[in-house]
Amino acid sequence: MSQGSAPRYPMVLVPGMLGFIHLVLYPYWYGIVEALRRGGAVVFAVQVSPLNSNEVRGEQLLARIEEILRETGADKVNLIGHSQGSLTARYAAAKRPDLVASVTSVAGPNHGSELADYLHRHYAHDSLKGRLLSGLLRVINALMCLLDTGYHGPKLPVDVHGSHHSLTTEGVALFNQRYPQGLPETWGGHGPEEVNGVRYYSWSGTLQPGKTDRGRNLFDGTNRSCRLFAKTFVREAGHCDGMVGRYSSHLGTVIGDDFPLDHFDIVNQSLGLVGKGAEPIRLFLEHAARLKAAGL
Ligand code: CA
Repeated sequence: MSQGSAPRYPMVLVPGMLGFIHLVLYPYWYGIVEALRRGGAVVFAVQVSPLNSNEVRGEQLLARIEEILRETGADKVNLIGHSQGSLTARYAAAKRPDLVASVTSVAGPNHGSELADYLHRHYAHDSLKGRLLSGLLRVINALMCLLDTGYHGPKLPVDVHGSHHSLTTEGVALFNQRYPQGLPETWGGHGPEEVNGVRYYSWSGTLQPGKTDRGRNLFDGTNRSCRLFAKTFVREAGHCDGMVGRYSSHLGTVIGDDFPLDHFDIVNQSLGLVGKGAEPIRLFLEHAARLKAAGL
């Protein structure tokens, strides 16, 4: 990608649950930020509460967007959210469409995650198992905060229950009633291209035996986790990336929903270990060119 195909507005990358910018030197968007910058794009990887509701995370994102606009002098930003980062970005765009040129959902649970539903059924937050899971997540979050070198703002609030509820089918349905911008009207369909002047896009992957469980993913434990998590899916059994269903990810213009990428591969995790023939970074570079071509 040449300088001439860089988007007009800064690209703001919003991580998912338990997300980060850098853990010590290790980036969430592995190799993606650098690749986009080599193409001339202005890119910000941002942090929001790793464990919190879409609304709390969305308000934090809005504050960060305002800082980025002041810093760059840009009028708007292009938001790209991975996983829960998609819902976070959708909230920000719904509240302040004047500040957002586009929202792109990358493996976003825009209609909920069946994995979150399974955990809700089997690890209810007031049960012993639920309290143990919640405690474990708090410990992981605390450890990640200790290792975090990319975020320099104030301590971010934690709400494990709010985080979980924000990802279940029921919780996302409530969110979608309030913030329906970009959603398809029919299950599996495309959403509107543009709402309130904001363009909406999405892409996602699915587990594909013989592809996603081969290549460098043979050495990536997160792929085995995704294959295990996929067993919790009912409605989209056999059509998910391990954490999000193929149709659940749809938002706005659907660029693709069956790339051979698991939920971590899609952001080039871990350490760039992905399945046979997978090119997650190429999707981000192509999207930068797509935003540029759309005048964004
Ligand atoms: Ca992987």
